[in-house]
Amino acid sequence: MGWTGKILRVDLTKGTVKSEPLNMEWADKYLGQRGLASKYLVEEINPKCDPLGPDNKVIFATGPLTGTCASTGGRYSVITKGPLTGAIACSNSGGYFGAELKFAGWDMIILEGSSPKPVYLTVFDDDVKLRDASPIWGKSVWASDAWIKAEHQDPLMHVAAIGVAGENKVLYSCIVNDLHRAAGRSGVGAALGSKNVKAIAVRGTKGVKVKDFKAFMAATAAGKKTLKDNAVTGQGLPAFGTQVLMNVINEAGALPTRNCEDVQFEGAHDISAEAMAEPRKSDGKPNLLTNQACFGCTIACGRISKMDEKHFSVQNKPEYWHASGGLEYEAAWALGAATGVNDLEALTYTNFICNEQGLDPISFGSTIGAAMELYETGVIDSKTTGGLELKFGSAEALTKAVELTGKAEGFGKELGQGSARLTAKYGKPELSMTVKSQEFPAYDPRGIQGMGLTYATSNRGACHLRSYTVASEILGIPEKTDPLVTDGKAGLVKAFQDATAAFDSSGLCLFTSFAWTLDDVAPQIDAACEGKWTTEKLLEVGERVWNMERMFNNRAGFTAADDKLPQRLLKDAAKTGPAKGLVNGLGKMLPEYYQARGWTPDGVPTNETLDRLAL
Ligand code: SF4
Repeated sequence: MGWTGKILRVDLTKGTVKSEPLNMEWADKYLGQRGLASKYLVEEINPKCDPLGPDNKVIFATGPLTGTCASTGGRYSVITKGPLTGAIACSNSGGYFGAELKFAGWDMIILEGSSPKPVYLTVFDDDVKLRDASPIWGKSVWASDAWIKAEHQDPLMHVAAIGVAGENKVLYSCIVNDLHRAAGRSGVGAALGSKNVKAIAVRGTKGVKVKDFKAFMAATAAGKKTLKDNAVTGQGLPAFGTQVLMNVINEAGALPTRNCEDVQFEGAHDISAEAMAEPRKSDGKPNLLTNQACFGCTIACGRISKMDEKHFSVQNKPEYWHASGGLEYEAAWALGAATGVNDLEALTYTNFICNEQGLDPISFGSTIGAAMELYETGVIDSKTTGGLELKFGSAEALTKAVELTGKAEGFGKELGQGSARLTAKYGKPELSMTVKSQEFPAYDPRGIQGMGLTYATSNRGACHLRSYTVASEILGIPEKTDPLVTDGKAGLVKAFQDATAAFDSSGLCLFTSFAWTLDDVAPQIDAACEGKWTTEKLLEVGERVWNMERMFNNRAGFTAADDKLPQRLLKDAAKTGPAKGLVNGLGKMLPEYYQARGWTPDGVPTNETLDRLAL
């Protein structure tokens, strides 16, 4: 109940598929999706394996609430050893693919080995086949999605695919499902591409059973009411999407700008939610068409946009004149503030290409920011870039760079390695705004101190979705803390990390946590799943998952020395805004964090902690 109890294991080397029972003992300890699939990965691969080699595995995993009528219960995750980072990776996506996989009767798909030729997998309930992908190898996500649906004469299939970027093993390539929802971070697309897998297409007819139907309907209805009555999930996100944050974070002096040279962007309003809704001067129409929801979601934060057809990037390209997934806050920040570009249409086009070719816009935008600093400081020039004039603020350079990177052509090949490798190649590693080689997102740790500790300790490399202390430090959720101080942030980050790991293991979207605590989630899981599920048990699952991920990374070779931030954030004070004069206080927070976690001063979980968590 909740879980389907079945795993699909695909041996790509041999070309075989088989069904296995889900390990229910593990399900009781790790719940599902991020937690449970990470347990399988940890047990089945050598942490030191090459992430792009056949010994790595790629797991598509749902949670027990995926495919149910719980609000936002449509999530799935891709779990693997991350090509960008070498650390454990778990990238979460919405849309409809995850629910469809559950309807087909599977909790997870484990892909192992490597196919000798390009393939795609079709899953029609129990009818599972590997098929020849040569007609779509070299094609975009969007073209592949259309071809698969036409080939199988089924427009209701849901497809998760890589673009050319994943085929070319761009280290921050992603897996895109339902055209513009993505398992975005850590290069999970490259991991799939390295196995010669172009896509997975699913169609299910089985539905999802829950343990106690009446209790489940009551618990999910109560949860939906809480979401509706909350100002963020009931009003802010549906009306403005995550882009509601652009002006807020800019005013807080925490908008990383021009590769973190500044913490406020003079062009923030031009690329904000408000600007997306305003009629354009050029054609009198707004960029934003409507909002959109993932499966079962009552929040509907997604943005659907349509570009100005006369914009220089698309004026001769009618294939981009259709509506598509529009800008989310993280993408708008990375493609805009991080590069100094305030051209909303250029950002929208660049985001389209990221979706079309399967690129993570956060890592792409931040890498362009670093490349622009290399260019502006004379470390590289137009000979190095093949003619690209990578000046901060250049919309032309941004849009050209995304085309080259998506296809891995020219200087795009170097950009596709991410900013850590790019800046190291040119002798300036300090210009990479990364942790564990992953670019950090849209919150400057000088203006939001807790995010510094969040990035430094994130198990998948710098990330906001492992501990979103912005909720507390800026939005006052669940209670307001001062973003400019370090006091209390170690405990805050630990609490957010553990709760987030539980949310990510459930099948729910993390955005529900603006309104829900685990007290709201526990009754929904308890009514759906066998066993007794309480808030305390979910928190324990979250802490167990966090420590398990940490142990994997330690075995992969990471140490406390990797819990660090770029020197710029520790040495160069914020120049403007509320954080003017401040650097991030990681040095104070980190020892407090290790202690709060029950780890040694070297950042290793003690035996006592591992015993307590039954690890
Ligand atoms: S809140 Fe947004 S991202 Fe989350 S499930 Fe709903 S539409 Fe998708």
